[in-house]
Amino acid sequence: EAHIEAIGAANPAINAYVLVTPEHALAQAKESDARIAKGDARALEGIPLGNKDLFCTDGIRTTACSKILGEFTPTYESTVGSNLWNAGAVMLGKLNNDEFAMGSSNETSAFGPVVSPWRRTGKTDKLVPGGSSGGSSAAVAAGLCLAATATDTGGSIRQPAALTGTVGIKPTYGRCSRWGIVAFASSLDQAGPIAKTVRDAAIMLGSMAGHDAKDSTSVDVPVPNYEAALGKGIKGLRVGVPKEYRVEGMSKEIEDLWTKGIAWLKDAGATIHEISLPHTKYALPAYYIVAPAEASSNLARYDGVRYGLRVPGRDITETYENTRAAGFGKEVRRRILIGTYVLSAGYYDAYYLKAQKVRTLIKRDFDEAWNTVDVVLTPTTPSPAFAFGEKSGDPLAMYLEDIFTVTVNMAGLPGISVPAGLSTEGTPLGLQLIGKPFDEGTLFAAGEAIE
Ligand code: GLN
Repeated sequence: EAHIEAIGAANPAINAYVLVTPEHALAQAKESDARIAKGDARALEGIPLGNKDLFCTDGIRTTACSKILGEFTPTYESTVGSNLWNAGAVMLGKLNNDEFAMGSSNETSAFGPVVSPWRRTGKTDKLVPGGSSGGSSAAVAAGLCLAATATDTGGSIRQPAALTGTVGIKPTYGRCSRWGIVAFASSLDQAGPIAKTVRDAAIMLGSMAGHDAKDSTSVDVPVPNYEAALGKGIKGLRVGVPKEYRVEGMSKEIEDLWTKGIAWLKDAGATIHEISLPHTKYALPAYYIVAPAEASSNLARYDGVRYGLRVPGRDITETYENTRAAGFGKEVRRRILIGTYVLSAGYYDAYYLKAQKVRTLIKRDFDEAWNTVDVVLTPTTPSPAFAFGEKSGDPLAMYLEDIFTVTVNMAGLPGISVPAGLSTEGTPLGLQLIGKPFDEGTLFAAGEAIE
């Protein structure tokens, strides 16, 4: 009830929730009370969560924050959602995001932007909460839920977490089921939590994760008790610092932040090693080929017939055209155009195939690194939170936001962003830890040494 009240008071200004579901939440909470009374409490009993509007919710509107899904109401629940509710969690509502999770500032949502609860010291201009999981990060930062679901295709959990002073982890590809989550780029998409602390994120991921026969890319490996691994320290942990991430034009405050992070891990007993990930500079351009290619294919299903919006034409082709022209926003259309171009006959080998080869090289860089280190430490973002409109007019500037995060998705690895202090403007900054496949536990342990 306290959270529902807080949402009522703050959401009009923050716009983190696109749908609040108080009756649903109170009904789930009642079931929780009953289980607690019976002595049958589960891992997340009664914990109020926000759910990104990319996760299908049974009987509750799901839009991916696109006009094209209209009032689409799924008849099924995402597996990750089911896992959370089965663990006793309570859903407060659906959270805003960039349309189809395409963006880094939550400015492309059909429901309008999310406003970060943070301001620069002595200033009043409104800042972005990051994206695409901007509703998730802002809701957690503003106390409008205890934690939230999110998805990360190229940084959409870690970057918004960094910009709002919250913790976000993108698990290993295959750790969480993608079933019932609106697809963006299927070989990169992963679900994960945004939470207030490393411990909360560990507890929540433990309930979200697990093999699911309904997602053929979900991996059948046991989910460890992440919480039990906390509090044991990181003595002897080998931390890699990749020299290629010291990109040209890196600001002094990001460089200083990284240096501080190295010192904190060293003080906690870790050893620091300079490493090389030579193909890093190709990750961002290759990502912006692979992700739009897969998106253009996934978005073919929105045709005005199967889901949501339909703008009828004289025949079926015109209906497709009218619906897609009216339903997709500018950034989504840009991705479809890039995607169909790089997949088209004549360009496939030069762009898509080449990007896939680069992807393999990026993964091999990490395979090699794991011979000498256990985790890799980098900044999460190249800059602190920016103001509305600062990057939205320049797609390349926006894409550069993802420079430190996309490699993790390209290689299928787990990555966590942990709050690491404030910028010179008084706004949050995050550090990223990248781990070996299915070694999220070590990320939580190292994350604790930073937060
Ligand atoms: N900002 C990146 C993009 O727009 C990543 C988005 C995401 O991870 N969903 O593609």
